[in-house]
Amino acid sequence: QTEFANKNILVLGAGVSGISVAYILRQLGAHVTLSDAKSADTINKDFSQLKEAGVVLALGNQNEELLVGMDYLVMSPGISIYIPLVAAAQGRGITVMSEVEVAYRLSNAPIVAITGTNGKTTTTTLLGEMLKTTGHQVSVGGNIGAALSEQALETGADGFVVAEISSFQLEGAIKFRPHIAAILNLTPDHLDRHHTMAVYQEMKERVFANQQVNDYLILNYDDVVVREMAKRAPGKVLYFSRRQRLESGIFVESGAIRLKWEGKVIDICTVNDIRIKGGHNVENALAACAIAYFAGVDPANMAEVLKVFPGVEHRIEPVAEIAGVAYYNDSKATNPESSIKALEAFPSHIILIAGGRDKNTDLTEFMKLVKERVDHLILLGEAQERFAESAVQHSVRNIHKTASFAEAVTLAHKLAQSPHVVLLSPACASYDMFNNYEERGNIFKDLVRRLG
Ligand code: ADP
Repeated sequence: QTEFANKNILVLGAGVSGISVAYILRQLGAHVTLSDAKSADTINKDFSQLKEAGVVLALGNQNEELLVGMDYLVMSPGISIYIPLVAAAQGRGITVMSEVEVAYRLSNAPIVAITGTNGKTTTTTLLGEMLKTTGHQVSVGGNIGAALSEQALETGADGFVVAEISSFQLEGAIKFRPHIAAILNLTPDHLDRHHTMAVYQEMKERVFANQQVNDYLILNYDDVVVREMAKRAPGKVLYFSRRQRLESGIFVESGAIRLKWEGKVIDICTVNDIRIKGGHNVENALAACAIAYFAGVDPANMAEVLKVFPGVEHRIEPVAEIAGVAYYNDSKATNPESSIKALEAFPSHIILIAGGRDKNTDLTEFMKLVKERVDHLILLGEAQERFAESAVQHSVRNIHKTASFAEAVTLAHKLAQSPHVVLLSPACASYDMFNNYEERGNIFKDLVRRLG
């Protein structure tokens, strides 16, 4: 029996994790109410299984009355901890926790947690593949795929629960204690919700705040803010660095990935062996190898996985090769920083398709790189006028404006000659023309495959 049996629990947020955790807590014998400020019509999901299981639905309002008699308030990651209902709950002495905290309390297996501003999904997925080579049960969740609580419940004590953790999920962390944690990087993001960089950093640091001396923390040495976190780490710290040789840690030396730890030196493979492209992915690979090492993965198996892992969909994803021209889908790049990473992965001969919903971002660094590496810049969507103006200011060659996505792809095909690469890396959100970046990427892939 878990601590949740017979407790009165209010779950906030009827999204994937909220629905999942409500169901699980009910199965564990709790009296569960699932609430969402949105009405049932707006949410438009099938709640029959939940209702049959005995979960009470309270949709379309978030009145304080919901809190009467509650022991716990469980938050979905999409809901901010700063809403009035949370303050009211705390005022009544109700324990407020995130879905990830529930997962931690339910898990028999050690939890491996990966956080950072960028690279979480890639590193988590890559690590999951490495851990599978141990033959132990591995479940991957958190910010990706199924809710972490579901994964935790399904994983045996000798397995691994690999969690992609966002700063939102850490807002409601209490005892959450991953045996191995990694922080990839920290740049300004989500400040609409966390308000200041200091709060955002504090949330990220919660990933290791409860660790103990026998736990491990992997930190990015090249990111000064992340490097300094070692001072506050209760467990053992291993640094990774793409730029420097380290006395102890994992780093690149003469093109090889080398791990030095407690007197051992292990060469895993070369940087060129890594199939996923770009310097940022070298960092993700270093972090994954470090975690895998502490989880007992054979270094030869790490190398095998790095050689074949194709990356995650919509992140510099190889789509096709047509007449010696390679096409890549980087639809996940919804801001200039992400598109810069993609441009850095290809030294020259790029035909870039960019534009979409404008976020009024600073384009200076992005356009400098476009000028250096891009032969043709094909623009689309709401942002195209501003992008075109900025491109002209930065003396970018061959700027093309297009009226539709299909036209952009057809034009790219017409202009491309080997050794060109055609790269969709929009540096913009997708909502002006698509439901989300996944849809944008999928339509791009369809259009490209029809060219062939
Ligand atoms: P997240 O899950 O944190 O959003 P992803 O793995 O989905 O990260 O990658 C999203 C984008 O972030 C990528 O398309 C790439 O542009 C950028 N990125 C990935 N890894 C890194 C990294 N280690 N450092 C900086 N940027 C990165």
